Amino acid sequence: MRWITAAGTVLAAVAALAGGVNSGSAEAAAPPVRTQHVEYFPGPRAEPRQVAVPASGRVSRDGPSLAGTTPAVKALQRSGPVSGRLDLVVMGDGYTADEQGEFAADAEEKLDAIFDVEPYRSYRGLFNIWLVDTVSHDSGVSGDPGADAVKDTALGSSFFCDGIERLLCVDTDEVARYAGLAPDADIVFVIANSAKYGGAGYSAADLPAGSAFHGVATMSSDNDRSYLIGAHELGHSIGHLADEYQYTGYGTYPSAEEPAAANLTIHRDVGATKWYRWLGTQDPSGSVVGTYEGGGYYEAGIYRPTETSIMRSLASTDFNVVGREAMIAGFYADADALTSSLPTTRPIGQGRLITVCLAPLTGLADVELTWYVDDRQVLAATGDQSVTPRELGVRGRGHKVTATVTDLSTAIRDPAVRAAATTSLTWAVR
Ligand SMILES: [Zn+2]
Repeated sequence: MRWITAAGTVLAAVAALAGGVNSGSAEAAAPPVRTQHVEYFPGPRAEPRQVAVPASGRVSRDGPSLAGTTPAVKALQRSGPVSGRLDLVVMGDGYTADEQGEFAADAEEKLDAIFDVEPYRSYRGLFNIWLVDTVSHDSGVSGDPGADAVKDTALGSSFFCDGIERLLCVDTDEVARYAGLAPDADIVFVIANSAKYGGAGYSAADLPAGSAFHGVATMSSDNDRSYLIGAHELGHSIGHLADEYQYTGYGTYPSAEEPAAANLTIHRDVGATKWYRWLGTQDPSGSVVGTYEGGGYYEAGIYRPTETSIMRSLASTDFNVVGREAMIAGFYADADALTSSLPTTRPIGQGRLITVCLAPLTGLADVELTWYVDDRQVLAATGDQSVTPRELGVRGRGHKVTATVTDLSTAIRDPAVRAAATTSLTWAVR
């Protein structure tokens, strides 16, 4: 979820939408209620909405069930070292001890659906995926099927959060504790054991202090459209994309400042937009890239790149090309296509074998491995994943060997993104 903080009115208006969670002027002595801003999805094909809710949605009668048990952490996909990968942690809620196998199957199915959306599909190899088994006392989650259904679950998941049926809140303190069990956590998904449509997105700013991860997305397990909630939320947390939807009555964007997100601009003039390199391109989401008025919750004075996209409505299952490129930039901000177990911190001998690993990327990705001695490229070694300095032509002391991987993907047009999609490792040769 992303907030246009330059426009404070958005937050204020959203707080008002939430029904006055913090209102309490009559009881001035009441302790302040910490709120979290979450994004929810009113229907399987609807445009999302933003609300503020009390920080803990827990309605369970018991405390956390983490105590006294050691939840199992499994690697569903381990494509490389945690330092070189995006680490996605997936945990279930409303699964009993007997239903852990069901959780694993649900998680796999949901992840396969998300990773069928580009650019996740092509860049899945930049992710590690960890499953954390959370054991709930009850099967199913609160608010399913009706608002009065109360379940005792590990993470306190609940539909009808703050009275909104499709808003699936979770106890983010508990989520953070469980996420800490995984080797690393950049993003967290919570899959609620339910066939009811719903989910939520929590942005980093609203997560418990000290959380290492950028965002939490919740989604129901057995609804075949809920995976799009996860795909959309990662758009915020990985691609730093803005919402491309608008609210009726919000009027004109109130700032003269250009939004930071890659997919919104205040410039109607096509040549002045940050996505000028994509103008006129036929977009996977169906329209031609241009400037379409409305986005970032406002109706006018702000423009998005395409008629629709997954950042505007979950009726769309595609990022537009501008969003795609921002996602790829986000992947590479946290992950590297090139890794090696040979440390670069110590000089190596001329006969030492240097072995590098390339992330298993496909489709849109187009990585090329090149080698350099000092600043001279060794063309004959292009693509070799194991070389020695001597084979590269190093003679004598004081040289250095560099491996570079560049992503030549045509989904990247911005030179700054291309630079971010380039990783080098350099060894000094003694
Ligand atoms: Zn959103």
